[in-house]
Amino acid sequence: MIPMVAIVGRPNVGKSTLFNRLTKSRQALVDDFPGVTRDRLYGRVDRDEGSFTLVDTGGFDPPEDMEFAPAVHAQIELALEEADLILFLADGRAGISPMDYEVADKLRKTNKPVITAVNKVDGYEHEAAAGEFHALGLDPLHFISSAHGYGVNGLLDEIFGILPPMAEPEEQGEFDPEAEEAEITIRVALAGRPNVGKSSMVNALVGGNRVVVSDVAGTTRDAVDTPFSFGGKEYLLIDTAGIRRQGKVKSKLEKAGVFRSLRAVDRCHVAVCLIDAGEGVTDSDLRVIGQAVENQRGLVVALNKWDLLKGKPEAQKKLKKDLEYALRFAPWAPVITTSALKGQGVKNLLPTVNQVFNEYNKRLPTGQLNRYLEDALAKHQPPMVKGRRLKFYYASQVAVRPPTVVIMVNNPERVHFSYRRFLINELRGAVGLTVSPLKLILKERSGRRTKPKKRRS
Ligand code: GDP
Ligand code: GDP
Repeated sequence: MIPMVAIVGRPNVGKSTLFNRLTKSRQALVDDFPGVTRDRLYGRVDRDEGSFTLVDTGGFDPPEDMEFAPAVHAQIELALEEADLILFLADGRAGISPMDYEVADKLRKTNKPVITAVNKVDGYEHEAAAGEFHALGLDPLHFISSAHGYGVNGLLDEIFGILPPMAEPEEQGEFDPEAEEAEITIRVALAGRPNVGKSSMVNALVGGNRVVVSDVAGTTRDAVDTPFSFGGKEYLLIDTAGIRRQGKVKSKLEKAGVFRSLRAVDRCHVAVCLIDAGEGVTDSDLRVIGQAVENQRGLVVALNKWDLLKGKPEAQKKLKKDLEYALRFAPWAPVITTSALKGQGVKNLLPTVNQVFNEYNKRLPTGQLNRYLEDALAKHQPPMVKGRRLKFYYASQVAVRPPTVVIMVNNPERVHFSYRRFLINELRGAVGLTVSPLKLILKERSGRRTKPKKRRS
């Protein structure tokens, strides 16, 4: 599992600037889905040594009536609970503040690793002035500039030095078209904002007694998942403990509950996004859907509490319309209606998850792929770019979960988003993907035949 690093510190010290700098390389991927905007409080940092998830706790807005200090403390508590490493950021220009001492006191008492960085030290010459931060008792200090990059590499070196070595992420399936695949466990995330009915759905799905959840503090995160079987298939319900705990201890921070859901979505094959039919589609719901779309997970939307809309056809119609808009980047996602409380519709959930997973794990015959690529190209010629026609050579599937197709192109950067989307839609239709995403990778191949290299003897 990918380790998690949380940035804490009082407002204005530069947390989001640092967050943006460190997660920048990832942004390009996000741009593939224009319109799936969400504030980036959660992102991934990739480097040769590995990856970690970075959280900007400053992005968790406190409730309006909460005062400044308790808000910062609530953010720190969230970080202490969730993160593997805490990155404490202070402001070298503003100097030490009383709040910094408070935060330092709290961090000194934790048994999690803490790295302290003094920000806005825009170059070597400012380090001496920021030396007063040694008084916090959290040495060694890093002096960095989030805005300009000074010291940031050294900071990353230390972070990677401390983080536990990462287990190989189970992302895409290894692909060998000939191989018969063993049955694999379907990883399902029940995601959604607090109060949509996630715990009720867990109960309805697996039955109260069969869910064995360890409440012991410090249990590893893997132990919070619930394995179960249904109809001869094996499932893993991700972060069941998180779902239940959330119900008991309502977090003080609005987005904290959603944040746990986002992490669960990262680890799943199929995300079930629960929406409260009584409340309609909210920003938090969009964030969960966006996470599934960006990470190319299977997605099922469950309009829960459907019982509340019984006999209200207008409200039903409006909700479905809003949802259609919310799903414009994932129109393939099946939508079901449920009442976790009354048990209605719940029986459709796992069969729908299966249907999505079957496609998510689908192998597409190469010959068929290429015939359809040809048809698609004939139907809608690739546009001219700077007087030259784009050339698409051949397609092959390179991975499952999700089905991932590579097409060799003479000039992949020149392929416009809309043409890319056209190809994805054509391929999806051609190979019979109706409820799963398909990932398309355009790779460069020059049009000229490269001569085989002469062997030197
Ligand atoms: P946050 O509230 O902790 O997320 O802080 P922000 O990232 O929003 O930054 C607050 C202000 O500090 C902004 O005006 C930034 O441009 C500025 N800032 C952030 N990092 C640096 C830095 O390394 N050097 C300087 N000089 N300014 C910075
Ligand atoms: P969670 O925070 O997402 O885990 O939500 P809970 O399962 O704790 O449910 C929050 C509240 O919504 C509880 O009072 C539930 O009884 C109620 N609830 C859950 N599912 C339904 C439903 O399908 N219909 C109605 N009317 N209420 C529901």
